[in-house]
Amino acid sequence: MITRPLTRHIDLSRPPYDLAQYEDAGGYSGARKVITGMTPAEGLQLLKDSGLRGRGGAGFPTGMKWSFVPMDKDNKGDKDKKGDKDGDKAPRPKYIVANADEMEPGTFKDRLLMEGCPHLLVEGMLVGGYILQADIGYIFIRGEYVEAAQLLNAAIAECRKKGYLGKHILGGDWSFELHVHTSAGRYICGEETALLNSLEGKRATPRAKPPFPQVSGLWGKPTIVNNVETLCNLPPIIEHGADWFKQLSLTGDAGTKLYGVSGRVNNPGCWELPMGTTARTLIEEHAGGMCDGYQLKTFLPGGGSTPLLLPEHLDTPMDYTEIGKLGSRLGTGTMIVIDDQVDFIGALKNLEHFFSQESCGFCTPCRDGLPWVEKALDNLEHGRGSRADLDWLKRATWMLNMGNTFCAHAPGAMGPLESALKYFPDEFEQRLAQSAARRKSVTEQTAP
Ligand code: NAD
Repeated sequence: MITRPLTRHIDLSRPPYDLAQYEDAGGYSGARKVITGMTPAEGLQLLKDSGLRGRGGAGFPTGMKWSFVPMDKDNKGDKDKKGDKDGDKAPRPKYIVANADEMEPGTFKDRLLMEGCPHLLVEGMLVGGYILQADIGYIFIRGEYVEAAQLLNAAIAECRKKGYLGKHILGGDWSFELHVHTSAGRYICGEETALLNSLEGKRATPRAKPPFPQVSGLWGKPTIVNNVETLCNLPPIIEHGADWFKQLSLTGDAGTKLYGVSGRVNNPGCWELPMGTTARTLIEEHAGGMCDGYQLKTFLPGGGSTPLLLPEHLDTPMDYTEIGKLGSRLGTGTMIVIDDQVDFIGALKNLEHFFSQESCGFCTPCRDGLPWVEKALDNLEHGRGSRADLDWLKRATWMLNMGNTFCAHAPGAMGPLESALKYFPDEFEQRLAQSAARRKSVTEQTAP
């Protein structure tokens, strides 16, 4: 039985499979099965039954999200067939978008999928496009992922030639086109509604939700935006079924997960493992343990915007539910390890510098608050800190949090800060003491 559905065709020592090689290895059988043998409703039901949750970071149930997309009442996917009355037809065109704008600090999992097996994502778009009866698909890809974009364009060209894309795919009624769109390069473009604005050629600021894109997305039409890893799970789910997908996991959240580890470990990398693998297994077995002379101090379990966890949390299964119970999030599943010798406040400042730079500038708390957070941390890092800086950092964790900002960007930035204040108050107090000592010594030296 297949245990690594996402990476089984990936071997980075050779070029990725072209269409013929991918088909020889069983590729496009998921797409063939759903397009020729299932109705869109049956495909959607299978997706719901599988328990797949979004792999971009939020973990929203994919089948539930997709069920909000309006469908033709006949549900057979024949968009030319007349419904009995107005409202039988879903608004057209419908879109499916792969969010490949991977920019979360520490995250490089979708890159592996796209560079290692571009046809899997194209097949995922085909399967998803059919289930949603979408007309057009876009792969919105991070601008720096030049190689992945080239490989995807080549894969799409092969599929067009073969008849997997275009009119009347596999002889049926459904037609579908797929395009690669290269992002202009802002973190916020990965937020699904900012992404849609960017695709429309507008400034990439998030939109108010609701309405969710499922109902009113690209150019106001029904649109699904899902992460690359989520979409790559669709062909194997169609092929092997919901029960198979569920038993891949060690816990209640189904499937496998692309986990990553970066930081001072012996073997940083990215691996496909059963969902629910513990952080200890990831760090000690797959990442080869901490580098000699370094101890694990803390870790961000799922990228730069996830709250810190401690060594005592190492045996918690890394899934959406269990990590959530600790007050953090699985996020992208790619952890950043912070060791005992790193300048902790400096590392935190680096992170907040990133979020501050990447604010879209649309709402005041985020645009003005994040630079203040960075400045306060910079003061503490360089011995210029005062009690007012620490007070501001504490205040920021609620002022810049959910409900006070337009989107999840600033709240995401507050995750690591809030957990740092909770778990490591001494780090901040120590910097305050150092700052006070420095001020005293400067005063003494400059006294007449
Ligand atoms: P979210 O919870 O608002 O939404 C997740 C998905 O579920 C969206 O597609 C949304 O449309 C849908 N959804 C949520 N509530 C819904 C509802 N009531 N009805 C219908 N649909 C609903 O999360 P988000 O802001 O899209 O994403 C935040 C996550 O993104 C964070 O967890 C962060 O870890 C992650 N992230 C990832 C990257 C990356 O590079 N992969 C970058 C930045 C952030």
